[in-house]
Amino acid sequence: MISFLDLRKINNRFRKEFQEAFSRSLDASHFILGENVSTFEREFSQYCGTKFCIGTANGLDALTLILKGYIQLGKLKKGDKIIVPANTFIATILSVLHADLEPVLVEPNPDTHNLSLQEVKKILTKDVKAIIMVHLYGQLAEAEELRHLSNQHDLLLIEDAAQAHGAMTNSKSTRAGNLSDAAAFSFYPSKNLGALGDGGAITTNDSELHETLKLLRNYGSKEKYKNNIIGYNSRLDDVQATFLSIKLKCLDDDNQRRRVIAKQYLNDINNPKIKLPFYNGSSNHVFYAFVVEVEHRADFTKFLDKHNIGWLIHYPIAPHKQDALHRFSHLKLPTTEQIHKRIISLPISPVMAREEVRSVIEVVNTY
Ligand SMILES: *Cc1c(COP(=O)(O)O)cnc(C)c1O
Repeated sequence: MISFLDLRKINNRFRKEFQEAFSRSLDASHFILGENVSTFEREFSQYCGTKFCIGTANGLDALTLILKGYIQLGKLKKGDKIIVPANTFIATILSVLHADLEPVLVEPNPDTHNLSLQEVKKILTKDVKAIIMVHLYGQLAEAEELRHLSNQHDLLLIEDAAQAHGAMTNSKSTRAGNLSDAAAFSFYPSKNLGALGDGGAITTNDSELHETLKLLRNYGSKEKYKNNIIGYNSRLDDVQATFLSIKLKCLDDDNQRRRVIAKQYLNDINNPKIKLPFYNGSSNHVFYAFVVEVEHRADFTKFLDKHNIGWLIHYPIAPHKQDALHRFSHLKLPTTEQIHKRIISLPISPVMAREEVRSVIEVVNTY
């Protein structure tokens, strides 16, 4: 059996370091916003190239707090429209709703599955105040073009970088997290940088936003038992921060290994029934997922099951077709709907053995 993602194998590489770090945490017993959180925040902001990093409880909170932070600062207000890709993971859209803002769902580019610049331009009205670009599957969205457009129209540009830790632009070697006004990351265990539980972070170069977010994530409080604003409880766990510091050292190597596997798939899968993903060969993709398209998906998944190859669908139901988002069910989003019908993710991870990669290629080619 080739598993879709062998988390045990991924984390076993760090078992000894994790155990030592846990022991130190237990000795220090500073479980909430201890030194390990500030150390990881410093390391991760350095890694992304931003001035600031704020650890949060998870990725959804990171997104929501960015929006609430801008509301607190008077840069967004209730009901403002926020552009989001229609084919994103539902968290992006939920964050906008949780902040009492209005998501505007926009069709993606059918090749990259990332926000389409043309579609964004088509839908841009005066009520739109921000764009959330999602680096879907680990591939950077068209950040420079979206930055330019946002500057022209005085919009905030926000990144959902939950799938793109370490992805880098070709032109300026700028990393995900440093391509917008503020970026949200998730450290959900299966992400390229994954904790041993929930975790998230925000990166930004905006010192005012940074100060506000530090308050918002911690009861609106800077000084214990003194509450300046109406805050939340969304802190990155101190012990998770130590695990993340350990794994961060391996992130570039892990991403490189993912790219090597992706290149093998792209070179050697030659089945005309399988549409391979768009990739320009650069470091702008970290292959959180290797997503192919197939017309008769149920057929293909049965075939993969028969050959003991793990697979997943990122994601099987378009957000506007979810019961929770029935308010958007009237929308006509044919590209998004087509994508959700046809996509399937093949196994890819830094711990996949070469023979496993070869087996996947062989099996997919005989379908
Ligand atoms: C994982 C993910 C999130 C949410 O992260 P959580 O830590 O699970 O809350 C948000 N957006 C995208 C695109 C994701 O993949």
